[in-house]
Amino acid sequence: MKLDVLAIAAHPDDVELTCGGTLLKMTQKGYKTGILDLTAGEMGTRGTPETRAKEAATAAKILNVSWRGDLGVPDSDVQPSRQHKLNLARVIREMRPRTVIVPYWEARHPDHYHASTLAYEGCFLAGLKQLPIDGEPYRPFKILYATSFEGMPPTFIVDITKEYETRRKAILAYASQFRPAKSERKQKVFLAIDELDSKMDLLARYYGQMIGVKYGEPFLQKEPLAVDDVVTLPVRSI
Ligand SMILES: [Zn+2]
Repeated sequence: MKLDVLAIAAHPDDVELTCGGTLLKMTQKGYKTGILDLTAGEMGTRGTPETRAKEAATAAKILNVSWRGDLGVPDSDVQPSRQHKLNLARVIREMRPRTVIVPYWEARHPDHYHASTLAYEGCFLAGLKQLPIDGEPYRPFKILYATSFEGMPPTFIVDITKEYETRRKAILAYASQFRPAKSERKQKVFLAIDELDSKMDLLARYYGQMIGVKYGEPFLQKEPLAVDDVVTLPVRSI
């Protein structure tokens, strides 16, 4: 399979929360999209790994991605180890994505910042001829960092106004996280996850208004953006 965009993140639902609208928008443009979850999310405060796997499959269907995989890294122990990087490089060689979306490199959760390093270094290794894994050497062209939760100024924002409602459905597919059983409601979690729906709305509106639309998703890239035509640049300055 040849993917145009592959989004990599630590836990199932991370991709939906940070770049689900963008993936959906790219699918609607005719691009092939995919998601690689590094872990199965088995350390989640609520629900079982089986439930999360089912929810991840439902969310993937809602976002209309062509492929979703799980790298089998233990949840809460994401590390950029040699073995994980080789496994990730194998996926990159198989899926051959042109653009890869990874988490921003700083985060509260260690799995998230380790996921960023693991994803970047796995993509790099995939291009090395002498790597002791099968498949044709291949390196993605573009690495984008999803910065939704991190608050630094993004390089660009994708307008996801049309995709927002479907992204919301994909997020809410993780019912075990968002609609816990009554007996579980008193559990303490860092994020008041039951309120995440309204928080996600607020966050997407915040980034949307920066570019003059209703909802947006922010991204950062390390290299500058090239511009050909300064006359038709979008987003009003004054
Ligand atoms: Zn996560």
